[in-house]
Amino acid sequence: MHYGVDIGGTKTEIALFDARWQCLDRWREPTPTDDGERFLAMLDRMTQEADRRSGERGSLGLGFPGVLNERGCLVAANLPGLRDFPLAATLEARIKRPLAIDNDSRCFIVSETGPGGAAAGDRHAFGAILGTGAGGGAIIEGRLLEGAGRFAGEWGHLPLPASARERYGLPVLACGCGLSDCLESWIAGPGLVRLHHHFGGAADTAEQWHAALIAGEDAAERAHRCHLDLLGGALANVVKLLSPQTIVMGGGLSRVDEVLAALPAALSSHLFPGVAVPHIVRSRFGDASGVRGAAMLGARQSVSETSPSP
Ligand SMILES: [Zn+2]
Repeated sequence: MHYGVDIGGTKTEIALFDARWQCLDRWREPTPTDDGERFLAMLDRMTQEADRRSGERGSLGLGFPGVLNERGCLVAANLPGLRDFPLAATLEARIKRPLAIDNDSRCFIVSETGPGGAAAGDRHAFGAILGTGAGGGAIIEGRLLEGAGRFAGEWGHLPLPASARERYGLPVLACGCGLSDCLESWIAGPGLVRLHHHFGGAADTAEQWHAALIAGEDAAERAHRCHLDLLGGALANVVKLLSPQTIVMGGGLSRVDEVLAALPAALSSHLFPGVAVPHIVRSRFGDASGVRGAAMLGARQSVSETSPSP
């Protein structure tokens, strides 16, 4: 049995998977975001309950929206109270089993290249999540790309190109990551709303922008074209660096047909002439991919730590 945990800013979900990656059970608890000990106790309790329900001692993987610093602490904007708590080491000792912890965007691409995923079996794939932010993760040569600082794939925090700023007259914005001028401010869901305002629209949500687009509103159409240009350029940067065969799109904007259908052409205009655009597909498991990928990473960790040395 394999357990995946998705740590969110308000709720934490655990899901139990069998050896064929069928989800057998799942439930949620409120996330204690302000106290490391209470957070640890919740994860311990959920794991024990999973053992009780499955009748086994399952492997465990955790996904969360941030980075793990060099001391094994979670650094995440919506989990401020856990910044100085050494979760990785304390949890492993408490639950007495090997543990995998990774960013939820990287869990996403592990899930989508795993059995039944949108890019199942692909050895070179990039996962791009466009929701409230722009997260990403890459599988290269069949392995999850981590990098020395374990933040490889953060494409949303590459800067907006100066040429694009001039073309569209966009302002410099501070980003939640601590930098300013990040692409995320324009290509994620709130960015599309921002672009709609920039071109004279009045949407409060991406859904409202989409309704205006369907209605044929000029500002919505201009925001759409600008967004596709910025998004195509951002993904082209990823393709130039990593050369994936497939890009799996996740998050709320991936469900907008007008965005997904226009992406190959938008990407192509920023790539070398004659170079094939990777397959661009919608995620198979959507929001459930985080918890599923975390479980897959946990299963691998469990195998690698229990195998005898050669
Ligand atoms: Zn940023």
